[in-house]
Amino acid sequence: MNKRQARTKSATNSTTDNRQSTTDKFVTLKTKLRQIQQGKLTALENLMHFSKKIATPETEDLNIFLSLNEDAIEQAKQIDKRIKENKAGKLAGLCFAIKANISAKHQTISCASKTLENYTAPFNATVINKLLAEDAILLGILNMDEFALGSSGETSAFGPTKNPTNPELIPGGTSSGPAAAIAANLADFTLGSDTGGSIRNPASHCGITGLKPTYGAVSRYGLLDAAMSFDTIGPMTKTPEDARLIFNIIKGQDNFDQTTTDYRGSTPDSPKGAIGLVNIKKFADERIANLIEKQAKEIAKQHNWTIKKIDLPLDIALETFYIINYTEFFSSSRKYDGRRFGKKIEDSAGPEVLRRIIGGSEITKAEHDGKFYREALKARNHIKLQFKKIFEEVDAIILPTSPKLPHKIGETITVEEMYAYDVTTVLANIAGLPAISIPAGQIDNKNVGLQIMVPHFQEELIFKLAKDFE
Ligand code: GLN
Repeated sequence: MNKRQARTKSATNSTTDNRQSTTDKFVTLKTKLRQIQQGKLTALENLMHFSKKIATPETEDLNIFLSLNEDAIEQAKQIDKRIKENKAGKLAGLCFAIKANISAKHQTISCASKTLENYTAPFNATVINKLLAEDAILLGILNMDEFALGSSGETSAFGPTKNPTNPELIPGGTSSGPAAAIAANLADFTLGSDTGGSIRNPASHCGITGLKPTYGAVSRYGLLDAAMSFDTIGPMTKTPEDARLIFNIIKGQDNFDQTTTDYRGSTPDSPKGAIGLVNIKKFADERIANLIEKQAKEIAKQHNWTIKKIDLPLDIALETFYIINYTEFFSSSRKYDGRRFGKKIEDSAGPEVLRRIIGGSEITKAEHDGKFYREALKARNHIKLQFKKIFEEVDAIILPTSPKLPHKIGETITVEEMYAYDVTTVLANIAGLPAISIPAGQIDNKNVGLQIMVPHFQEELIFKLAKDFE
C-alpha cells in the first residue's frame, strides 16, 4: 500500500476517535501494554492512531516511511481476538516499523536504493519472526542512508529524511527513518542497524534512545549486510526501559546466524564503582564534551562512583573502521550484479555506495597482497586489547554519541567531515561492545546524545546506568 492509499484508508476509520487520548499521551511501552491488556486500548485502535498520523501531510513531508504494510489491519484484528481469548504474546498490540535493510516477507526491502527498489523479501529476518510471534504489528518500512552507508540520512535514493525536532536539520544516519519515526511518535518502537554508529548517531540527533547490542547478541539473519563483522540490529525507542523490553525479545542464539550465542547476559565480576570519562576534547565540539562531562560528574556524585579520565584509541578509529567497512561492503555488494537481485549496483547506486565499491576494490587488489586489510585487523586487535585494559579499571565508559551537532540538510560537507561524525561510535563496533545513546539535552536547540559503553553481554548494566542518567 502506498502512503496515499493509507491516508484514505485511515481517514475513513473514525470509530477510534473518542479513545485517541489514550494513545496521544506519552506512556512507556509497559504502560501501553497494560492498557491494551485491560481493554482500554485495542490493537486496532493503536494501529489506526499511528496510520492516521503517518498519513498527515506534515508527517509525509518528513519522508520517514518508504512503504506501509498492507496486512497490518488484518493482523491487528487477529491480535485483538487473541487478547480477548488470553492467548496473546508479550508485545500484543504494539506497532513497530523497520529500517529498509531488515527482511520482512512480502515487503519491499530496498535499502533505500534504486538497485533494490523492486526487491520483495521472500522471508522474515529472525528478529521479525520473534516480534511477530509476540503479536507486535508491523507498520511499515523506513527510510535510511542507501545500503546503510552514510552518517546523515541524506544518501537515500528516495530523498533525505528530515529531523522531526527541527526539519531543517539532518536526522542523522544511517537509521534515519527509525530514529525520526520515534521522535515524531509514529511507532511504539523501531528497529535499526548499527555498523559504525547508525543506531546511536540518529538517536542522538533526534533526541531518542538507541541501543547497539553486543555483536552476536541479536541474530543478523535477514539483515542485508553493510559490513558483516560490524553489523548489529537493535531497538530504537523513547526510553531505555522500552529498549530493554524489545532487546529481551529479539536477543538470543539463532541457528541461521553462527555468530549468535545463547544470551545469558553477564554482570561485572567485581564492580569497580568507577566510570571512565573519555578525554574527547581533541575530537569533539567543546560544548558537547563539557555537557557530557557535567552530567557524568553529577551522576557519579549521586551514586558515589569515582570518575576516571580515560583515553580511547580515537586517533586510529576511523581509519581502522573504514578500511574494514570498504573491504566487507565491497565483498557483500558483489551479489548485486543484476542477475538475481535487482539492478547492477554500479549502474544504479549513488555516489557514496560507488565510493565504497571503488575503494574496496582498490584495497583488495591482488597486487597489495592484503596489506591494508591486515594492518586494519592488527589495529582492530589493538583496540580490543585497549578496551580489555580499560574495563579492568572501570565498569562503564561515558562519552558523547556524536562529536558534533547535526548540520543542515543539503549543506555541503566533505567526505572527511561526514566520516568524522563516526569517531565516537565506531570503536564499539570494532570491538563488538554494546553501547547506548540516550538524550542528554540540547545545545543551540540541537539534540545531544550521551553514550554508555560496557563490556560484552552486559546490556543489563547499560539499561541500569541509562535509567540513572535519564
Ligand atoms: N557512518 C558509517 C558508514 O558510513 C557507519 C554506518 C552504519 O553504522 N551503518 O559506514
